[in-house]
Amino acid sequence: MDTLPLASFIRDIPDFPRPGIVFKDITPLLREPAALRQALDEMTARARRLGPELIVGIESRGFLFGAPLADRLGLGFVPVRKPGKLPFRSVRDEYVLEYGNGVLEMHEDALGRHRVLIVDDLLATGGTAACTARLCERLGAEVAGFLFLVELTFLQGRAALGGRPVEALVAF
Ligand code: AMP
Repeated sequence: MDTLPLASFIRDIPDFPRPGIVFKDITPLLREPAALRQALDEMTARARRLGPELIVGIESRGFLFGAPLADRLGLGFVPVRKPGKLPFRSVRDEYVLEYGNGVLEMHEDALGRHRVLIVDDLLATGGTAACTARLCERLGAEVAGFLFLVELTFLQGRAALGGRPVEALVAF
């Protein structure tokens, strides 16, 4: 089957969620079966090379790729959530987003000493992913790397990720 240009299934929404931000809308990619499958196939191949033992997905669009990826790799999935969503005892850390500040939480018994791959839809400044990595390491895990559908290279988010492996399918 032909390879699709995945970038053509990601549309720009100017001034969302606030003026000056160009939001990368991935819903056209999710809506097209061949594009969604290709994205997951490519993510699976890249993830496998990093040898993770668990997939950590960041709320909420990281869940859309992280959970199917974990299933394809035969691994478990651990959610990182916005504050107040997790029912069990949690650890928390703060991060800076391209459009605001935030807090992320993880169940304190979620990881242990495993190699984890952190998955999200998009790498912008890297604040969200770096915060997730700190949480994972606090819980005793080793971060094998990061995997994104999209990377906004002009924001240099990789610089915030401590030299660990970073994979992204589409760069803008
Ligand atoms: P950052 O912490 O700056 O790397 O921001 C990454 C997180 O914010 C990811 O969870 C993205 O889904 C979201 N995000 C940041 N900037 C954008 C953007 N321009 N378009 C879509 N999502 C974004």
